[in-house]
Amino acid sequence: MPNPDLVAHSSQTARDIIELDDGIWTAVGYAASNVHLIEGLNSATIIDTSESTRAAQNILAEFRKCSSKPISRIIYTHSHRDHISGATVFSDGGAAIHASHKFSSDLIAVDGDAIAPNKALARRTRAQFGMGLSPEERISLGCGPGDRPMEGLGAGFRAPTVLEVEDRHIDLDGLSADLIHAPGETDDHMVVWLPDRKILFCGDNWYHAFPNLYAIRGTPYRDFQAWADSLSLLADLGAEVLAPGHTRPVFGRRNVHDVLTSTRDAILHVMRYTADAMDAGLSMDDIASSITLPDHLADKPWLKEFYGKVSWSARAYAVGTLGWYDGNPTNLGTLSTESRARQMAELAGGADALEVAALAAVDLQWKLELLDHLSVLGKDVVQEKIKTLRTLAESEINATARNTYLSEALELTSGSK
Ligand SMILES: [Zn+2]
Repeated sequence: MPNPDLVAHSSQTARDIIELDDGIWTAVGYAASNVHLIEGLNSATIIDTSESTRAAQNILAEFRKCSSKPISRIIYTHSHRDHISGATVFSDGGAAIHASHKFSSDLIAVDGDAIAPNKALARRTRAQFGMGLSPEERISLGCGPGDRPMEGLGAGFRAPTVLEVEDRHIDLDGLSADLIHAPGETDDHMVVWLPDRKILFCGDNWYHAFPNLYAIRGTPYRDFQAWADSLSLLADLGAEVLAPGHTRPVFGRRNVHDVLTSTRDAILHVMRYTADAMDAGLSMDDIASSITLPDHLADKPWLKEFYGKVSWSARAYAVGTLGWYDGNPTNLGTLSTESRARQMAELAGGADALEVAALAAVDLQWKLELLDHLSVLGKDVVQEKIKTLRTLAESEINATARNTYLSEALELTSGSK
């Protein structure tokens, strides 16, 4: 049975059109990310556009039941592909598209011949989101529904036509809005604040899950302090409705303040714990295996590790501040995986003895490590590894870890790996 908390989290991304206030709606669960509609006097504004043209079409069809006004403006909260890839559906080219002047993806992938690990990124992205899994196995993306249309994935992007350099006030055809630069999950985040309605569209700077301070698909360092500072700034706005880029909106001034400030405190806790542990000379493995949130934060339903993970965040903070070297001179040298496996087998009394130890191992992390050694040494331990990955996946609360374990197991089962 999958982790019950992760299964229950699916209610956060169940399909729904939610009215936030008169003339303002959010589409949740139609795509990996949410799309928002703001009706003006004679025209409408769309905030974010989903990851595919099919999802955007489904959302537009629902929005047309709410408002028939032409869409004159699109605002991108940031450049992640799941927010910018349905724009052609909402506008045939006539709408102004606003984004931060820092607009660019934090994905490593680039076009052309530039050097970049694009195949690794594609493979890991596929695994993180469980794109080869059945909908039953892929119970969640961590931030979005496990089942979503894939037709037209990435196909509907339009480039921004207005790059915002400063925070500024704009008129959404009769409705006052502030565009505020707020770096967080990406450096190019720009949130939309409706001061007269007390509604805040925060992009991915908050969602109902521990923040994805490091995405295992592969990301450059996400600035922890900047994200925490942005959450303080957003909390001080005094919003009564928080409409995030993923998961359901939050209603009530106190609730909005609570989710924003507690998430900030969780980020600060990871920073402080990791910095103190590095100062004390702890190894990276010891930091990652010992860090937890304090109870008053761990108890918050929106800080459970459905999407981001505390231990990965500690590793990311360490790498993002002092780099990969952990201060232990042992780690200045390198053993190849083959060399380590061979010497481990010798220590165990041979590969057969190592195999006996691996099959008897109770700690599943340890078992995986031993199985990897055996695999390098040419032992056929594929079935045991598949079984172990599947067992780990079942108890895992983090959707991206679960999807990655299951994707690896699937590849091993099909023999494509
Ligand atoms: Zn997103």
